[in-house]
Amino acid sequence: MTTPQEVLKMIQDQNIQMIDLKFIDMPGIWQHLTVYQDQIDESSFTEGVPFDGSSIRGWKAINESDMAMVLDPDTAWIDPFMKEPTLSIICSIKEPRTGEWYNRCPRVIARKALDYLVSTGIGDTAFFGPEAEFFIFDDVRFDQNENSGYYYVDSVEGRWNSGKDEGPNLAYKPGYKQGYFPVPPTDTSQDIRSEMLLTMAKCGVPIEKHHHEVATGGQCELGFRFGKIIEAADWLMTYKYVIKNVGRKYGKTVTFMPKPVFQDNGSGMHTHQSIWKDGKPLFAGNQYAGMSEMGLYYIGGILKHAPALLAFTNPSTNSYKRLVPGYEAPVNLAYSQGNRSASVRIPLSGDNPKAKRLEFRCPDATCNPYLAFAAMLCAGLDGIKNKIHPGEPLDKNIYDLSPEELAKVPSTPGSLELALEALEKDHKFLTESGVFTEDFIENWISYKLDNEVNPLRLRPHPYEFSLYYDV
Ligand code: GLN
Ligand code: MG
Ligand code: MG
Ligand code: MG
Repeated sequence: MTTPQEVLKMIQDQNIQMIDLKFIDMPGIWQHLTVYQDQIDESSFTEGVPFDGSSIRGWKAINESDMAMVLDPDTAWIDPFMKEPTLSIICSIKEPRTGEWYNRCPRVIARKALDYLVSTGIGDTAFFGPEAEFFIFDDVRFDQNENSGYYYVDSVEGRWNSGKDEGPNLAYKPGYKQGYFPVPPTDTSQDIRSEMLLTMAKCGVPIEKHHHEVATGGQCELGFRFGKIIEAADWLMTYKYVIKNVGRKYGKTVTFMPKPVFQDNGSGMHTHQSIWKDGKPLFAGNQYAGMSEMGLYYIGGILKHAPALLAFTNPSTNSYKRLVPGYEAPVNLAYSQGNRSASVRIPLSGDNPKAKRLEFRCPDATCNPYLAFAAMLCAGLDGIKNKIHPGEPLDKNIYDLSPEELAKVPSTPGSLELALEALEKDHKFLTESGVFTEDFIENWISYKLDNEVNPLRLRPHPYEFSLYYDV
């Protein structure tokens, strides 16, 4: 824990002039305001620094736009991408008129989810460990015909296409789904990944590892330690920020879009989770796969509410192009030990109860991590409170099941629109506790429909030209 006084002393001692205040908007992108050091004092950590919140997506109308950013002293680090020494601090949002926390601030919602956990008496700490995959590309450009609004990407690595244009592989290029994980020179992103990981450490993220991923267009994953709900979401935001900015230094672009490349693996954000109380893990026990009954009920809650939950964990139209069979992405709402084709997996944790956790494999990094973690915690707690048993585990490879067996397993929604419909019908588990307000849910659904689902639906798709132009 860092105190406001320690942050202010650091600013003095290191003669830092610029303070960069970062906060998260509703769809999940960091926004920032940079202030001169004399604008910050102890009250900045309680009442906050005022700013105009009128043009922030999904927030206030222009006639009621005064907001305040409240600095979290635990999140201070020197921003490695800014030329002038600049202290970066993550903020939560308050309403300056009432002094209340703003109920559409995602970081505030994550805090409320933690408060709710404590209030149930079930636990006092929720740990989250997200594994966000991403692609590194050389360039992203507009199509020649700018009216089509169609982007295409140049892959860093190119690929040896073993399908359409068969030919000798003269350049160490892996084929589709073969990027996991030969050494260089086949792996061309070793150095950039090391720089990304080490830069992240400078920003306070407890780094662990990095590797190439299965898709070959430069798909990668970096690993950091699991953390408490808000801390883990802050680290995930820092992760994305560092990865994109190191990419830019190398003249690359990076995308967390779940399915940028047709017919190759997409990018997920598997999320490991567990609940603890008084320093003790609560998910280890003598039930299936070494889980406790409580852990199984948590899984039951996640699986029961998954269709609605995905409106937060997989909140882009592109998310559902990833959730299809054949690419290690989960399609069926089932759980299993070890089986990576189930949407909930219980990883092997040896005899160590502290490592006992579940991995929900549906999420992707287009989510707002504060909202996604809060929603998953609410679903899991609903499972625990109502003793929702997840049923029998699915220990076979789900992709190999017969159509009759498969028909019994519920599947993930096929589109963002269907996930939003599920959320419309099933959100008591989010609002009953006051973690999410009814206003927030309604606003989320209409924001996603008006800004993403409908605009996409109204545009002619490039593939429609291939199908229908010559009809
Ligand atoms: N990329 C896969 C997904 O979409 C996961 C691959 C892996 O990490 N095993 O979830
Ligand atoms: Mg991983
Ligand atoms: Mg992975
Ligand atoms: Mg994983």
